[in-house]
Amino acid sequence: VKRNGKNHHLLYNKEMQQELRNKAVTEGIIQKAVQEDGFYLVYQPQVNVKTGEIESFEALVRLKHHAIPPDVFIGIAEESDLICQIGRAVTKEAIRQAANWRDKGHPRKPISINFSSKQIRDKDYLQFLINTLEEYELDPQYLEIEITESILLEETELTLELLERIKELGIKIALDDFGTGFSSLNYLTYIPVNKVKLDKSLCDKFLSPDNIKVIESIISLAHSLNLVITAEGIEEQWQYEQLKASGCNTIQGYLFSKPLIAEEAEKIYEKNFLH
Ligand code: C2E
Ligand code: CA
Ligand code: CA
Ligand code: CA
Repeated sequence: VKRNGKNHHLLYNKEMQQELRNKAVTEGIIQKAVQEDGFYLVYQPQVNVKTGEIESFEALVRLKHHAIPPDVFIGIAEESDLICQIGRAVTKEAIRQAANWRDKGHPRKPISINFSSKQIRDKDYLQFLINTLEEYELDPQYLEIEITESILLEETELTLELLERIKELGIKIALDDFGTGFSSLNYLTYIPVNKVKLDKSLCDKFLSPDNIKVIESIISLAHSLNLVITAEGIEEQWQYEQLKASGCNTIQGYLFSKPLIAEEAEKIYEKNFLH
């Protein structure tokens, strides 16, 4: 028994060492990407359920030279200040792209960016945001910021103040990944948000006719608070029908489109998904 225990311990250590090595390698890759403009954004449309038109695009970050998924490298970046640097790079690129589409005469559509809870550490972020909007002369209503509930775990007072400031600028705020974590409906009454994004896991679980009441009540509560509801990770036509019947406002998912590189997103900019 003792021996087994020892072997097990050894194995465990090896796995841990391997993991630490992988992490260090990834951290090196992120560091390099931050220094050398090594990120790009892909854009996934959010489609109006009633009209089939694209309402906005969510920007999702990718590494230029590595196939490491964002879930993985964002997680590692969040353990250090790297997340703040990625956050700024993403903010700048999304604003630049929105201004570029404006300059090309495309209809105005907001781009939403993901704001990690750990970016609260970036004390000058608000000023950076304001400066960048000014640099590109972008009307703040064409930018949207996605936060998650976990942001309230980090310096709540400061966070609420930052969010208020962002909202005052005219930037929309969306509560992402709703239905994971604590998902207290109570949060919706005091975080300054304009939109709630129902997480894929929630949609997968509760869109069936037997369970639809859960989603319906979230949607009706959100609507009573004047919030827009987006459903995420929608892959099937029947899910779309169900959400349409429930009064959901917009839908994002492979059913309509995967995240696209800027050139591809531009091509479908005026696409109507219902015709
Ligand atoms: P998220 O913000 O919840 O983004 C939605 C994720 O769902 C994206 O994964 C998107 O590609 C994926 N998705 C969209 N539609 C479907 C669908 O129909 N089916 C399935 N299975 N998946 C779908 P992605 O791009 O891999 O990003 C994963 C996560 O990484 C994001 O989740 C977000 O938490 C984080 N992330 C991505 N970009 C950024 C960023 O610029 N900054 C920060 N802080 N986090 C980011
Ligand atoms: Ca998001
Ligand atoms: Ca999400
Ligand atoms: Ca997520």
